[in-house]
Amino acid sequence: MPTRPPTRCAEPGCSTLVPKGRCEAHQRIPWAGRDDKAARYGISSGAWRSLKAKVTRRDNGCCYRCGIDQAEIRRDDPEAPDHVLDHITPIFEGGSATDMDNLGLLCEPCDTLKSKSEALRANQARKRAR
Ligand SMILES: [Zn+2]
Ligand SMILES: [Zn+2]
Repeated sequence: MPTRPPTRCAEPGCSTLVPKGRCEAHQRIPWAGRDDKAARYGISSGAWRSLKAKVTRRDNGCCYRCGIDQAEIRRDDPEAPDHVLDHITPIFEGGSATDMDNLGLLCEPCDTLKSKSEALRANQARKRAR
């Protein structure tokens, strides 16, 4: 049987060759468009806000990956997006949704990177389950 030639990534305009589907950079994020973590895990938005306030105080508003301080970004760019509250170990990998030890702040670039790599792992986990 001939082996299947690699194809281009399914993302329009991307020419990365892949065995099938999408390249690493264009994995679909299963929860794209529903970026409301609180709703996803059944946490009320009020509870989520107060968790975020607690984590912000605990970590002095710093991103837990790169250490950048939310207030510092704001000083440079008042329009900059807020850090987001993030589950350090994703829920789908067994992390706790509300445990303070599993919560941290992420700046926007770090959140984007982490979401992508989690989407990749989630997609792979689903494939394995089939
Ligand atoms: Zn691609
Ligand atoms: Zn960061």
